[in-house]
Amino acid sequence: MGTTIFAEMSALATTTGSVNLGQGFPDTDGPREIAAAAAAAVMAGRGNQYPPGPGIPELRQAVAAHQKRCYGLDVDPDAQVLVTAGATEAIAAALIALLEPGDEAIAFEPYYDSYAACIAMAGATRVPVTLRPPDFRPDLDALRAAITGRTRLILLNSPHNPTGVVFTPGELARIAELACAHDLLVVSDEVYEHMVYDGVHVPIVSLPGMSGRTVTISSAAKMFSFTGWKIGWVTGSPELVTAVRTVKQFLTYVTGGPFQYAVAEALALPDDYFAAVTADLRAKRDFLCAGLAGAGFEVYRPAGTYFVTTDVRALGHADGMEFCRELPRRAGVVAIPSVVFYDNTDAGRSQVRFAFCKQQHVLAEALGRLARAGRGEAGLGD
Ligand code: PMP
Ligand code: GLN
Repeated sequence: MGTTIFAEMSALATTTGSVNLGQGFPDTDGPREIAAAAAAAVMAGRGNQYPPGPGIPELRQAVAAHQKRCYGLDVDPDAQVLVTAGATEAIAAALIALLEPGDEAIAFEPYYDSYAACIAMAGATRVPVTLRPPDFRPDLDALRAAITGRTRLILLNSPHNPTGVVFTPGELARIAELACAHDLLVVSDEVYEHMVYDGVHVPIVSLPGMSGRTVTISSAAKMFSFTGWKIGWVTGSPELVTAVRTVKQFLTYVTGGPFQYAVAEALALPDDYFAAVTADLRAKRDFLCAGLAGAGFEVYRPAGTYFVTTDVRALGHADGMEFCRELPRRAGVVAIPSVVFYDNTDAGRSQVRFAFCKQQHVLAEALGRLARAGRGEAGLGD
């Protein structure tokens, strides 16, 4: 594999002139004043030379203040925060730091593509526990059954890409109990923490017994619509953060200095900013879900993230990969075949993911194209 499915599908969108509802990036930038803060930092010479290894103090303080404001968590900005090159590096550094060859890491599949790669880079083995439609709720008996003497950690992602499932406080409590009972670590990828439309986001670190065993990961990419800046962060106990930092320093050493100043300002935006992001995306979720259902897809309505998973069997297709490779030609739309997120490929073969972090008129154009293709001679069916 020379490229990720996201890059492949974005390239296909460009060459075919398709509407790109594949790779998860917004088609409008985040707040102007935050972009201006980044530009000002560059011009003022702030962060143009290697910033401190753990991240600039202003950003570490802002991460801690955000954890306090949103979840009432006390995080020491000096000992418990590490700035990374996006959540992607945070995931890599955490897994390489915490896993030894021969260890097992349990993750709910379908999972974000870098999880499998990073567990492999750490020399460990991934153990999938499958989330199944229509509701994709985690099967906690299956989770318990997957734990062995070699299990080192559970890799969690809620809100969950690609299914959009948001784990309930009760589910998280049971996962936390299992982690404590079996003395496991939890790496919790919470990059969609502000994209919850039904239910509530609870950081698993806030649950009893979890503060010493959880590495929490988030990122400015989704929250502030600057996916190109690659600023993420890790929070956790001083011991765990030190372990992750020890790896990070040999992956990238430090991360985009001027952007750190801007993200520090972004994290201090008022609650209204975060509420507006959620409200905007909730409306887009509703719009895209209704339109896809109208075009004949089976739609699994997401409670969070900016993705919706569909099933194309309702359109007469058995294979989501084939469907996605054909969709640009048939309809001028690009989506992601969810099978790439599964080890157990049979479970995801007919699922297709669409992103709704796009302007309203772009979503409308995509739905119009899908509707027209559905009515056309070839149709969206076989
Ligand atoms: N985790 C999940 C679940 C994601 O969907 C993504 C993609 N944004 C990432 C991590 C990577 O985030 P970043 O762009 O900050 O590296
Ligand atoms: N997180 C984005 C998605 O799931 C893509 C990020 C990437 O291309 N690596 O679509």
